[in-house]
Amino acid sequence: MSKTIKKIGVLTSGGDSPGMNAAIRSVVRTCAFHNIGCVGIYRGYQGMIEGDFKEMGPRSVNNIVNKGGTILKSARSMDFKTPEGREKAHKNLVKAGIDALVVIGGDGSFTGALLFNSEYDFPVMGIPGTIDNDIYGTSYTLGYDTALNTVVEVIDKIRDTASSHNRLFLIEVMGRDAGHIALNAGIGAGAEEILIPEEDLGLDRLLDSLRKSKAAGKSSSIVVISEGDKIGKTVFELKDYVESNFPEYDVRVSVLGHMQRGGAPSCFDRVLASRLGVKAVESLLEGESNYMVGILADKIVLTPLEQAIKGDSEIDTELLRVSDIMSI
Ligand code: ADP
Repeated sequence: MSKTIKKIGVLTSGGDSPGMNAAIRSVVRTCAFHNIGCVGIYRGYQGMIEGDFKEMGPRSVNNIVNKGGTILKSARSMDFKTPEGREKAHKNLVKAGIDALVVIGGDGSFTGALLFNSEYDFPVMGIPGTIDNDIYGTSYTLGYDTALNTVVEVIDKIRDTASSHNRLFLIEVMGRDAGHIALNAGIGAGAEEILIPEEDLGLDRLLDSLRKSKAAGKSSSIVVISEGDKIGKTVFELKDYVESNFPEYDVRVSVLGHMQRGGAPSCFDRVLASRLGVKAVESLLEGESNYMVGILADKIVLTPLEQAIKGDSEIDTELLRVSDIMSI
């Protein structure tokens, strides 16, 4: 029988993503709703080691549901990867009377949480926060929907200039290991071709596709490329390659970068964050631990952290077919 939880600590860790604030707000207010204490832990695991804590009540999270980033700040902590670091963190939690943790972050943060639990039998619950959407056990991670909307909005603007000048734009979006952003934003923004890490479409296929789109009378083209696509060339090398094959094309590169992580969270991300926060706290209160709270088929579900870390979040290959049909 697990001991009664009277105070929950919440932290954001790893890469930040829009919707993390809405999730913090949800955790804090769900704790207040159930009459238990809540402590904000600043700068992820590093703040846990340094005892950078602040008691939080429902009014500490006013006016943040609409804010990007994370009011608790995020950090990458090398110290937490050492047994000494985790021991210090545990001592600080005990001293502050914290008896369970909600960790908002990606699979690295979940790995740390699981290890911490195995060493100190400390209850932990994960909430997936990353724009990459690359976590097993949830159809959506916090920030992904916002990032898609940001990318689509920017590509719409780029299309205006592309079509005015008969240009070919190569647009690099985030996603080192996962092509979710490229694939979905690419379809949403009407890209002619999409290159993602999961599929090696090859250079020939890219040239073929550009040839076809030219023959079909298209005067400008948008190609969306995931950071980690498998063609193996940087987006700038790709530009040189395309230009050497199509001297008539004026090829431009746009690397969208960190703007994809910022901005006000979309309504979808705010609602998702609110639902995940409630479930995370209530699951801890029910004695559950070592799970990630996610959404599958519009239901909030728990997936063992171990599976969430190890499992692959597969892309829907049907989307590639849809993209092909759309770019006829
Ligand atoms: P993300 O959570 O976005 O995947 P990281 O991979 O940077 O981001 O992980 C965030 C933090 O989680 C790290 O800085 C570290 O403190 C902790 N962490 C990651 N992997 C481990 C590990 N194997 N052992 C202990 N802590 C870890």
